[in-house]
Amino acid sequence: MVKMAPSILSADFGHLLDDIKKVEEAGVELLHIDIMDGHYVPNISFGPVVLKSIKGKTSVPFDVHLMIENPDNYIAEFVQSGAHIITVHAEATTHLHRTIQNIKSHGVKAAVSLNPATPLVVLEEVLPELDMVLLMSVNPGFGGQSFIETTLDKISRLRKMITDRGLDIDIQVDGGVKLNNAKPL
Ligand code: ZN
Repeated sequence: MVKMAPSILSADFGHLLDDIKKVEEAGVELLHIDIMDGHYVPNISFGPVVLKSIKGKTSVPFDVHLMIENPDNYIAEFVQSGAHIITVHAEATTHLHRTIQNIKSHGVKAAVSLNPATPLVVLEEVLPELDMVLLMSVNPGFGGQSFIETTLDKISRLRKMITDRGLDIDIQVDGGVKLNNAKPL
């Protein structure tokens, strides 16, 4: 089943709740919330205070994508701010297994994201711990970039890895996803 998770970065922050209501009425499954710290990625977005302002005002679960350094320091606060799923970058944490356990200890779903250049092999030992894997189809940091085509093959290989192990894990694709590439995806 394909789920839709529109990014909050595409919203008008002056009318954030109105825009969230629009996607809620359209029936999306998740609200994708991109957190950027200006260190792990060159851009800065916003922090937990924005999540707190919309917490409880929509029925769409918060899918929080942490593009930040030292994600462990912020997991508890994002959970308190309403996160249902927390995604960390494998490249941004030294002890990935520990970080995943940290997320799960708060009773929310855990996901790991890989940049376009990061091979799937880094997931080998942690895959059974995960609810979702997020494959970046652009280099993270900015909205509106074009889709990197080699991601399609990476998705196929990841799906095989998951199926071969008899696991039930969602694959999320982030960056440059549009109507013209939705079908091959
Ligand atoms: Zn994202």
